[in-house]
Amino acid sequence: MTGKTHIIGGIAACLAFGQTSVDSPLLLGTAGAIGALIPDICHGGSIIGRTFPALSKLINGLFGHRSFTHSLLFLLIVAWALHTYVTNDAIKMGLLIGMASHFVLDMCTKQGIQLFFPIKVKVRFPLTTRTGSKIEGAVALCLLIACLYFSFEIMHLH
Ligand SMILES: [Zn+2]
Repeated sequence: MTGKTHIIGGIAACLAFGQTSVDSPLLLGTAGAIGALIPDICHGGSIIGRTFPALSKLINGLFGHRSFTHSLLFLLIVAWALHTYVTNDAIKMGLLIGMASHFVLDMCTKQGIQLFFPIKVKVRFPLTTRTGSKIEGAVALCLLIACLYFSFEIMHLH
């Protein structure tokens, strides 16, 4: 999936979550967008890979693409680090929900992800699409509509 789809997906997932916990939906959504980009640090051409090229090269060299940074192990390590060093709940939840949404979206692609890394099994959904395809565009559009819908709902709650 492209970075754009991941950003929209991360925000949509966070805003859906924001329905139940609405103390700072804007912060939650922003953290979600950033969290949704983090796993692709393993890929030099991604938005985050271009932002941190040296780190991206290191991680790609060590683990390859869509393995460690697309795994539950990585999610747990980040969750532990956030729990230890970050006090703001909206930032913590947003980053984790954004990352989880990234895994789900990448599981919709043919290549799948190594969700159970270091076990090298590729996990994907039975129906998949290619990155940058028309179907991905349609998925991104649906997520965008979901974003608008959830934003509207949250505004209503306030
Ligand atoms: Zn990815």
